[in-house]
Amino acid sequence: MRRSRAFIPTAKEAPSDATLPSHQFLVRGGFINQQGAGLYNFLPLGKIVLEKIRAVVKEELDFAGCCEVQLSFVTPISLWERSGRADAMGKEMLRINDRHQNEFVLSPTNEEAMVELVKNRVTSYKDLPLNLYQINTKFRDEARPRYGLLRGREFLMKDGYSFHSSKEDMVREFDLMESTYKKIFTRLGLDFRVVAADSGAIGGDGSKEFHVLADSGEDTLIVCEACNYGANIETIDEFKDKIDELNEKSYEELKEQKIDQKCSCGANLYFKKGIEVGHIFQLGTKYSAALEANFSDENGRSKPFEMATFGIGVSRLVAAIIEQNHDESGCIWTKESAPYIVNIMVSNVKDEAQMSLGEELYVKLRAAKVDVIFDDTKERFGFKMKDAELIGFPYTIIIGKELESGLVQIFDRKTKESFSIDVSSAYEKIMELIK
Ligand code: ATP
Ligand code: MG
Repeated sequence: MRRSRAFIPTAKEAPSDATLPSHQFLVRGGFINQQGAGLYNFLPLGKIVLEKIRAVVKEELDFAGCCEVQLSFVTPISLWERSGRADAMGKEMLRINDRHQNEFVLSPTNEEAMVELVKNRVTSYKDLPLNLYQINTKFRDEARPRYGLLRGREFLMKDGYSFHSSKEDMVREFDLMESTYKKIFTRLGLDFRVVAADSGAIGGDGSKEFHVLADSGEDTLIVCEACNYGANIETIDEFKDKIDELNEKSYEELKEQKIDQKCSCGANLYFKKGIEVGHIFQLGTKYSAALEANFSDENGRSKPFEMATFGIGVSRLVAAIIEQNHDESGCIWTKESAPYIVNIMVSNVKDEAQMSLGEELYVKLRAAKVDVIFDDTKERFGFKMKDAELIGFPYTIIIGKELESGLVQIFDRKTKESFSIDVSSAYEKIMELIK
């Protein structure tokens, strides 16, 4: 992409309600803009990041044997009445009427619709297991939409549902999804923890959450300093009465607080703040029994499916990546999530030698399928640099005055350091850095 042709409306000021870095920088960097409370438009840069995250999620799920579908976002209220959730979901569920006064819901999740889809289409144990997923818009009329993409009302979620002939097989899939989710968050370059969680309104037994560790996280976790153990404080009896109080505390305040209990491995436990980016549940037969979705087992007996459900907050991840990776100047994208991994910046576009080298590198990197943006705009060098830091391209090749001595600079956004390199090795060096 040529910057002169791009739509990247960066801004000096953040909206007044933007208190978190991800909210400020994503708006200022021209990734998103607000349409209404908890409603966001994705501008070109935001859309690229969203699609990159979606692609990683899809690739790993497909590799694990899941099948992608796309269910209707609008669902009839009767579906929710049959499962008993029309009331249980309360005001979070947005209801609408059509011209005939039939009532519908903008789906906040899709357990019921998936069970309906599978019911009477999968009838034998021979057709199981089955894991269906979709990556689409969800709507929840959150009481407090805030923090930009972290708690929207309309957001992009991956939701998956698996169907099994036995509890053992469901638990096997649950474990497979845990390892698949770990691969996804690792590929996205995130520092995260898997913690024991409360099952909440969805119900069921086993439940684990995936949290991106960030001081601004809304959830409070307890993690072990030695082993992998972690839990959301919601699940620990000792903290039951203090959940809200602890969630209100900042990470700085919590850091000082000692926990008497030790981990079962013997090591100390400490508090961390987390952003929930994934949640996996063992549902059992809750929905299949309620909606009479049965299969026949090896002995011809009719049984409700054993089920599990798996969610990832795809649009929340865009913000979570930035909560974990930013500095005072702006975003620092990880390699897998960066909208463009290389930015070619020509310091003086009137200088023919600088421009033609910029063009040459741009063509070469594009031919090598590198996600590259070419800053060919007439802005001042200082402005362009600030803008590149705000947006957070991992690497910028700066073509400036040093070109007279046959050199260009490579700027590393994460370390904010730059080094000079011979023009002839610039391409190879960049290819090596982005590997
Ligand atoms: P939370 O406790 O943060 O409200 P939840 O438990 O309601 O989350 P799930 O029903 O498990 O969320 O939904 C699956 C995933 O969707 C969550 O792990 C989260 O990443 C994402 N998600 C949920 N609510 C929102 C929202 N309002 N905005 C953006 N992402 C969301
Ligand atoms: Mg919620």
